[in-house]
This record gives sequence, structure tokens and C-alpha cells, in this order.
Amino acid sequence: MTPDQAQDTAPSKIQSNSFSRLSFYQNCPFAAKLKYLNKIPEPARPPPALKRGQTVGEHANERGSRVHEAADDFINARRDDLVSELDRYKDEMNNVRFLVKANPDLIQTEQLWTSTQNWEPTDPKHDLTPWLRVIVDLLIFTDNDKTHARVIDFKTGKRYGNEVKHAQQTQLYQLAAFMRYPSLQSVTTELWYLDQKHGPAKNDFTRAQGERFRASWDRRMNEMCNDTEFKARPHEKSCMFCAYGLEEHSNKWVNKSGDCKLSLDKRDR
Ligand code: SF4
Repeated sequence: MTPDQAQDTAPSKIQSNSFSRLSFYQNCPFAAKLKYLNKIPEPARPPPALKRGQTVGEHANERGSRVHEAADDFINARRDDLVSELDRYKDEMNNVRFLVKANPDLIQTEQLWTSTQNWEPTDPKHDLTPWLRVIVDLLIFTDNDKTHARVIDFKTGKRYGNEVKHAQQTQLYQLAAFMRYPSLQSVTTELWYLDQKHGPAKNDFTRAQGERFRASWDRRMNEMCNDTEFKARPHEKSCMFCAYGLEEHSNKWVNKSGDCKLSLDKRDR
């Protein structure tokens, strides 16, 4: 299906928010429309070159999914070995595995949180188009009254160059935790950079500090869900990695000879 054909049948607004969806939209609203409204599959990319010790080339997102699944299986004792990517966090993984067994009420792994526009929790089994979806890799309440929690995200790939994006994700996740659990008085967010030598990146939030981010996230989510124009936002970084743009050979960021043809007359600047 071409973008023009898909345009005729697609709904006119994006209905559901998530951190990855908002990030994608903020890079280029037009690309977000192709992906989330027109549902045009991103063209397949050739497999990446094999790294040392690999027998199968994995794209970054495939590797991320595999490692997340392996971590979840280990923590919940569905497997006993740790994949090599989790080596640096061996002690932490063993501690969490012990905690899951000893006190399962205080631990959540790979949880999908869904909520309404007013941040009221919904049941993800029934709410198929929630206002917000957040997938939490690991949440640990550190006391029985659930006044403090660690919200942990496993990160494969680089930390440097992703600081802003990861800080924004941290803001959203701590806010979602406060809105979901009224008993929480403080939250510590932890990004476990599995591929990096340095330790996790941690941030502490009191409830008052955390809730200050609500207005800004409400504004961003409303902006995406109310957009009906989806103006393109061509930019070197966005276009260079845009699957739709890569197929569109007039993309000036790819071949340096023209502009993104997809975006003609749809630019917002
Ligand atoms: S190539 Fe650039 S402008 Fe065109 S859809 Fe992709 S990100 Fe947007």
C-alpha cells in the first residue's frame, strides 16, 4: 500500500500515547502518521554485520527484545542462565530473583500500565486503546507500605547521545508510578545500561517534584493526539534513520541531492 492509498482509509488522529510513540512523533509528525495511522510497514532493512561471537546479525531493537525477555525469564525463574549481556548486572539480577520469590507482592516485572487521559489506571486486557501505555521493566517497592519504589529500565545500546531522550523517559515513568500508586511518597528511577561499564543512572523524585512534570506531559500527549496535519519535520538526524525516507531516494539527508519527497508541502518550517 502506498502512503496515498493508506491515507484514504486511515483514522484522522493518533489515539494512544506511549513514550516511544511520542518520541517518534516529535522527530517527525509525518513519519508518525505513516507508521501509526496509515500503518505502513517500515521497509525491511538488510541484516547488520555480524559482531564478534555472533552467529546471527541482530538489529538493535531485536537484540533489545531478546535481552529484555531473557532478563524477565531469569528474574521469574523460567530460566537459570544469564545471557552474556546481563553479566555486568549479575548480582542485581540474582537479588531481584530472590526478592520475587521471597516477596512477590513488592515486585513487578514487564508490566504494562494503561491509563485514561486523567491518569486513572485501566485494565490493559480490556482497554485496547488506552490514552497512555507504559511498559515497566522492573518495579520494586522497598517497604511494605509501598511509600518508596525503584522504577528500573534495562537499556541496551549507548548512553551517550541518548541523555535527553532517556531523561524524558525517566520523567514519564516516575510520573506514571506516582499517578498509579497513591501510597508512593518517593520514587528512584534507575537506568541499567547493560552494555556500558559505568553503573546505573539514578534519579530521586519526591511526589511533589515528580508531579510537576504532569502539565508538560499532558501538553505533549494532547498535541500528538489532536494533530490532524502531521507536518513533516525534515532534519538530518531524523531523516537519516527514517525507514520511509530511506526508501524515498529524494531524501536530501540520504543522497544529498534533494529534499524528502514525502514531505513536500507538508513541512512545518
Ligand atoms: S524522511 Fe524525514 S521528513 Fe521524510 S518522513 Fe522521514 S523523518 Fe519525516
